Amino acid sequence: MIKVFEDFDFSRVGQMQSLLESNGIRTFLKNQYGSSVMGEVPFVEVVPQLFILKNKDLLRAKELLRLDLPVESPKPDWVCAQCGEENEGTFDECWKCGS
Ligand SMILES: [Zn+2]
Repeated sequence: MIKVFEDFDFSRVGQMQSLLESNGIRTFLKNQYGSSVMGEVPFVEVVPQLFILKNKDLLRAKELLRLDLPVESPKPDWVCAQCGEENEGTFDECWKCGS
C-alpha cells in the first residue's frame, strides 16, 4: 500500500479517491473520520490520507492526481482605479474606460 495523497480537506481527498477508483485503481482511505475526533489524537494522525492498494498503480495514480490539480487559481475581480467600475479578473484593462 502506498500513500498517494493527503489533505486536511476531506472532500478533496474523497474527490481524488473517486477519480482513481473510476480509473480502475483500488484505493484505501485512512483517517476518513479524522475531523470528528480532532482534539483527541495528535493533529498529524487525523489528516485524511489516500492510499493505493497495488504498487503497480503508482505511476498511473500520480498522473491522474497531477492532472486534476488546479493549474492556476482564478484571478479575483478588481475595481478600476479610474472610474470605479468592477471588472472580472480575466480582464487586464477596464472594460468601461480602458485604463
Ligand atoms: Zn475604468
